[in-house]
Amino acid sequence: MTGMTRREWLQMMAALSFAPSGLRTQQPQDRLAAFRAQIGATPIKTQPLGEHLTLLSGPGGNVVVLHGAEGLIVVDTFVAPAWPNLEESLKGLGGPVKFVINTHWHFDHTDNNAPLHAAGATVVAHENTKRRMSAPQHIAILDLEFPPSPAAALPQRVFADGYKLEANGERLGVSYVAPAHTDTDVIVWFERANVLHAGDVFFNGRYPLIDGSTGGRVFGMIKASGKSLEESIAAKPFTDLDGDWGSGRYKGDDFVRIVYLTL
Ligand SMILES: [Zn+2]
Repeated sequence: MTGMTRREWLQMMAALSFAPSGLRTQQPQDRLAAFRAQIGATPIKTQPLGEHLTLLSGPGGNVVVLHGAEGLIVVDTFVAPAWPNLEESLKGLGGPVKFVINTHWHFDHTDNNAPLHAAGATVVAHENTKRRMSAPQHIAILDLEFPPSPAAALPQRVFADGYKLEANGERLGVSYVAPAHTDTDVIVWFERANVLHAGDVFFNGRYPLIDGSTGGRVFGMIKASGKSLEESIAAKPFTDLDGDWGSGRYKGDDFVRIVYLTL
């Protein structure tokens, strides 16, 4: 969901959560289809990140494409209705797609695994992504039900800790992070371009979604963001509350320390 602007995000949340006659009154499968259609209607924006690296954003989590003479490596895949646009964008970057990496199991990152695999790509993901996609899932915070993914959409190659790939003069390091946004998250490091694809472990400039229904935990979000105890204290997250709550034995900085050390 990181590809959306703040305005698009607010519009989507308004449509999903707050409109009394809106999507919430529909059956769960209709709501999921409407959610997919809404996200999928967003146009794809293209932004170069380096000589062989391009960011595609819009209809779902950010897609990063490594391209060159040795073919494409694609990180994440947008939602299903965006497939014709994604296919066109990828053709514009060369092709064929050799590998797809899923940063986690969520539908806006894995929906187009099947058509990409059908076109010859090998899908790589953490073993928990395959496990989550193989069984029904419920995301409580969005009140959405997901049936198991079809076999053709499941990753063909899974790993527990990390995975390495090389192509087009670039080295990719894929690393599992502790349960954070979900229990399936990996981050992808493009060594030469000095670019990190953090999936939904990092939300830029807004509160993150932590999907506790499928293993997400706030301690993992903090750990994956690399914030030390000192950095967390310096960020003064309780400034607005200190006036009312900071008159006791423990001041705001003490409370940050207490929370951090018990995560
Ligand atoms: Zn997600």
